[in-house]
This record gives sequence, C-alpha cells and structure tokens, in this order.
Amino acid sequence: MGDRGDAAGRLVRGTVVVHRRRCGKANCRCAGGEALHESTVLSYSEQGRTRFLMLPDGEVAAVQAATGRYRAERAKLEARGDAGLAALVARLGPGRKAQS
Ligand SMILES: [Zn+2]
Repeated sequence: MGDRGDAAGRLVRGTVVVHRRRCGKANCRCAGGEALHESTVLSYSEQGRTRFLMLPDGEVAAVQAATGRYRAERAKLEARGDAGLAALVARLGPGRKAQS
C-alpha cells in the first residue's frame, strides 16, 4: 500500500456517511435495543450504482477531508465552465432551444 502519505492533497469523489444497523446475531446487544452497530463508509456511485466502502477509523477524517476538497474543486470547475459559457454566449448570442 504505502499511499496514505499523500492523502493531504488527494481528491476523493463520494460522501462519507455513518451506517447504523443490526448485525443479525440473536444474542448481540444490537438485537433488541437502540445500540446499533455504526460503521463509517464512503458512499460513491460507479456506473450508476451506489456502492459503500467501509472506512477504517483511522482513515475517516482524511477521506472526509478529501471528499470536501473534491466538492470544492468541482464547484470551482463548474464556475469556470459557466463563466466560459457566459462569455461565449455574450460573443455569439444565446443558443437555440432544443427541439422537444
Ligand atoms: Zn450486533
């Protein structure tokens, strides 16, 4: 592995979420009560399907930070694309409406 060191600048697409669930064992503390098992996962989509990646406790903070950086970069990219489009429309006129 050895790729944890560069995590500070990494971008990760997805959302960190906490799942709470029962494990299914009849004699477990979770069976009857409110004390469900919590696991932190990265939710991401791949080819239109949502997938969950279990995150070790020690990696949650870094992955969460990386997803935040990804969202910030994506927002910046979209803003640049919008600005470029607006400039082009200002120069060439607005596009026609698509036929429906
Ligand atoms: Zn359980």
